Amino acid sequence: MTDCIFCKILAKEIPGSFVYEDDKVAAFMDINQPNPYKVLIVPRAHAPMIYDLTDVDAAAIMQTAVRLSKIIRDVSKCDGLSVFQSNGTAANQEVFHFHLHLLPRFENDNHATRRHEPTDRATLDKLAADLRSALHPQ
Ligand SMILES: [Zn+2]
Repeated sequence: MTDCIFCKILAKEIPGSFVYEDDKVAAFMDINQPNPYKVLIVPRAHAPMIYDLTDVDAAAIMQTAVRLSKIIRDVSKCDGLSVFQSNGTAANQEVFHFHLHLLPRFENDNHATRRHEPTDRATLDKLAADLRSALHPQ
């Protein structure tokens, strides 16, 4: 989809701060960081909503979610972790390329459920690098 912002990020046509990539899925930092280390996981193949995912991509997305959740927990020192995903405008879906949110949570952080200003690229790159180094220790 040439007009899809996530396809453009996957194609490296516009900037993304990547944490993980393979032939099925990719994970990058959300431009909105209500708490540090919020990550989005997307299928490489364009699929607007959950109804459009292949079984293979669905499995790869959840396996990546489990793996990255542990990394986010360890790096962010979060108290909890919200994993969520929205389908359709009625569910407040904003980008119509399937994405799973991994949001670190802290005690009494109800602010994290509200909209935040975009985070600058240098900060996003630093957060992504922290997660990558935990994923692939030197
Ligand atoms: Zn797309």
